Amino acid sequence: MAANGGERFDLIIIGSGPGGYVAAIRAAQLGMSVACVEDQHLGGVCLNIGCIPTKALLTSALLVNEMKEGERHGIMAKEVTFDLGPAQDRSRRVADQMRKGVGHLFKKYGVTPIEGFGRLEGKGNVEVETSDGNKTSYEAAHVIIATGSKPRNIPSLQIDEERIWSSTGALMQAKAPATLLIVGAGAIGMEFADVYASFGTKVTIVEALERILPLEDAEVSKFMERAYAKRGMEIHTGARFEKAEGGKKGVRATFRDKQDQTHTLDVDYILSAVGRVPSSGDIGLESAGVTVDERGFVVVDELMRTNVPGVYAIGDVAGRQLLAHKASHEGITCVEHIAGQGHGTVDYGNVPNCTYCHPEVASVGLTEQEAKDQGHDVEVGKFPWVAVGRAVAAAHTDGFVKIIRDRRYSEILGAHIVGPNATELIAEFVIGRHLESTVEELEKAIHPHPTLSEGVSEAALTALGRPIHI
Ligand code: NAD
Repeated sequence: MAANGGERFDLIIIGSGPGGYVAAIRAAQLGMSVACVEDQHLGGVCLNIGCIPTKALLTSALLVNEMKEGERHGIMAKEVTFDLGPAQDRSRRVADQMRKGVGHLFKKYGVTPIEGFGRLEGKGNVEVETSDGNKTSYEAAHVIIATGSKPRNIPSLQIDEERIWSSTGALMQAKAPATLLIVGAGAIGMEFADVYASFGTKVTIVEALERILPLEDAEVSKFMERAYAKRGMEIHTGARFEKAEGGKKGVRATFRDKQDQTHTLDVDYILSAVGRVPSSGDIGLESAGVTVDERGFVVVDELMRTNVPGVYAIGDVAGRQLLAHKASHEGITCVEHIAGQGHGTVDYGNVPNCTYCHPEVASVGLTEQEAKDQGHDVEVGKFPWVAVGRAVAAAHTDGFVKIIRDRRYSEILGAHIVGPNATELIAEFVIGRHLESTVEELEKAIHPHPTLSEGVSEAALTALGRPIHI
């Protein structure tokens, strides 16, 4: 036992999101005594107010849209109405179920959960403060910071979760409003645009950069802009958000469009989806001497070590891609190295991006422009879903599979999918790239018929200049 009442562990992890809880389980499997400190809910943002409940809502949104087209499937339901309430309710139950799942896993693997706010307290000590102000110190040979990130607040758009939501506010609504303005067209903006537009809200999107989903391939952004416009959403790219103030409805928004025209819009709510910032304040990093960069991300090396021996950081708080799957991989990499069993580092060039809007968007590796900018001899293969039997049968033919290959060694430089199950299919390219497969090898692997995976092999054939079905 530590001097002031807390226990001693081999490893204490601060934060139980997909970085922290996965690292905790792996460390326990490797024989370490592990504690995981959490002041909110086990599972962090991802399971409670992020990825998982959003995907529950997006599944409901997909079904709503299928119902709108029900007659083509022989569903002659009259006067169908759509109500966000039950869908939102279900999304909360899904989050609860997943959170409890982490608790069960901790029991199974012998991870000690510690409730409260964790702070580094010099070398090898973590102080945990409970909501009633009680503080306990724990000792650990190793400490991992896995505190994640929180919504970015910009001066012109202060989140209050009443009229101006972050993703958290957007997840908690039992009723779809008549109007919603979304500022930012990254993953969060695009996913909630899909949910609310499906349930009948008039959605307007304002994006500062020249295209929506600006990190994706330019053709993907262009396709999605058309798809959303067809669904009645109004999109302003290259726009500058200026202010939000109390208005006739709920809130009056002012922004300037690409042509420098001022727009004033009275909407019920605004969703601020302008990115996230690291949760690195008030956790004792400064007093422990841990280096953070100018944006507040903890600086780590390829084994997730900070500059202070015995202190590590993983997931969103450690920067790079703010993605759950990247966080989990960093967690595993970190604890395996602590246990002396490390066999590699995280391949940041092969982290897939998935946006679960409809049609879905997924990608891995370089965009066409990036490949060209890097001097590759680029060949592009783009295959439309409308030529894939399974997609036609499923009535989901929007989009394409695009492969970017290097002519020299036929390396898969990048892959971009818009369309049905894109977020599942992208794994095929992730594995291909991980195994350093050529585009020929991807094509030679027999894909079952009729499946959506044929879109992958046909895109490979297209990149080789010999498609069969177009
Ligand atoms: P993001 O960085 O992906 O997108 C933010 C968008 O807001 C950008 O396109 C940016 O140009 C725009 N923007 C910034 N300031 C603006 C302004 N003043 N006016 C108008 N537009 C502005 O961030 P996000 O969508 O908020 O998501 C946060 C993080 O969480 C991201 O890293 C994202 O990858 C991650 N996330 C991932 C998923 C997923 O994988 N499906 C889902 C949700 C969030």
